[in-house]
Amino acid sequence: MELRNTRQKQAIREAFSEAARPLSPEEALAYAQAHYKRLGIATMYRNIKALVEDGWLLPVEVPGRSTRYEVAGKRHHHHFHCKGCDKVFEVEGCVASSKPRLPRGFRSTSHEFYLFGLCSGCSARNKQHSKISDHGGRGETSVC
Ligand SMILES: [Zn+2]
Ligand SMILES: [Zn+2]
Repeated sequence: MELRNTRQKQAIREAFSEAARPLSPEEALAYAQAHYKRLGIATMYRNIKALVEDGWLLPVEVPGRSTRYEVAGKRHHHHFHCKGCDKVFEVEGCVASSKPRLPRGFRSTSHEFYLFGLCSGCSARNKQHSKISDHGGRGETSVC
């Protein structure tokens, strides 16, 4: 039992390390099942919660989407959300170079910045099907 738990946790950690981008629990499950076939979604949720409490995983909030998780301790970076495949990618560096003027006495400690659009795979697909947008039937018109 103990060993099984350890192997499951190991598979889940590997999933997040391998993906190198924020994953939803469902995406993480698909990756982790490559290492541990019998892993279920309930186990995934339980382990994600534990890994967040341990400080190994960080929640990534994407406006209007379900929470993703990424390995903690990375350098300051931002995220790109693809409207085509609903994946979240890491973007290196900081885009917020100009500092907004804060009211007197305010002190900012962090910021959030999201980029939205199409990833390379989706923009290639988008070109092929030009006008017809059939991105997984999400009913969302893709921007180009
Ligand atoms: Zn995409
Ligand atoms: Zn930044």
